[in-house]
Amino acid sequence: MTATILDGNEAARSLRAEVETRAGAFEARYGRAPAVSAVRVGDDPGAAYYERSLARSFGRIGMGFRPHTLPLHIAEAELVAQVEHLSVDPEVDGIILLEPLPPHIDRTNLKRALSPGKDVDGIHPLNIGRLAQAAPVGRPQGVDPCLVPATPAGGMAILRYYDVPIAGRHAVVVGRSNIVGKPLALLLLRANATVTVCHSRTRDLATICRTGDILCGAVGSARLIKGDWIKPGAVVLDFGVNFVEGEMVGDVAFQEATEVAGMITPVPGGTGPVTNVMLMWNVVRAAERQAQVI
Ligand code: NDP
Repeated sequence: MTATILDGNEAARSLRAEVETRAGAFEARYGRAPAVSAVRVGDDPGAAYYERSLARSFGRIGMGFRPHTLPLHIAEAELVAQVEHLSVDPEVDGIILLEPLPPHIDRTNLKRALSPGKDVDGIHPLNIGRLAQAAPVGRPQGVDPCLVPATPAGGMAILRYYDVPIAGRHAVVVGRSNIVGKPLALLLLRANATVTVCHSRTRDLATICRTGDILCGAVGSARLIKGDWIKPGAVVLDFGVNFVEGEMVGDVAFQEATEVAGMITPVPGGTGPVTNVMLMWNVVRAAERQAQVI
């Protein structure tokens, strides 16, 4: 079997066009484009690279992007005050806290300073709580999850774009971080999949992976998931970003996997490109919601 490649760039192009339309409608109505502020502490090259790539993505569709670079040794109270200031700034619709943050900063305090309505990375406990309490798709909406972390939201967008059925299927998620694995499991559950979440203490990971109709790698371990861990015909979403001898590879052994899976996202060019677009979606959503409240 040779798997169908789920092209994230193609899905991202289509979604970007929708975001651009909504952002344009917002600007026409409110006289300014939706805008995000990105807070970076210190000069970590990875964070700086991500910031530049976000600036390009937001700029390309005419949305506002405001970088705030703060000194590495900034006092926690001062950083919290900066985030509180952005949280009440009416010209700021979304706030991104770029990682890594220095070890002397308590992330819990920082998250608390973030307005949940501007939390476009979906890291505030209120937003994760809303996602956990959201009614399953097809049932009356109890809680609107609204701001969901962009990476898992992007994975779901790829499944939707390629018409992958989810309801009733067994989804196996390898990884349980607060920004990828756990919210992904909640989104799949909400879409009526039966979900198993695996982590570093899971026993016999290969056997569990082999039961997944939808298998998601969100680990950060190069080519951990082998071809013979995959159920024949399964849909494989690879969120991993790993570097082996300068080459970017995923959590799935891609070549072997394409012989077994029915559909698979490549790395690069799979879940990555859609993540940025989902972040822009979140900024537009946040802007629309706040504008309606004001
Ligand atoms: P974390 O390091 O926060 O979480 C990794 C998870 O994998 C943990 O739950 C950990 O388990 C689990 N794990 C580690 N080793 C194993 C193992 N051998 N077997 C099973 N489970 C294991 O990573 P993130 O969630 O932040 O990121 C995951 C990957 O996704 C990374 O490669 C990251 O670069 C990538 N990423 C991709 C994005 C995209 O746009 N595509 C965006 C963000 C991240 P435990 O909880 O027990 O420690």
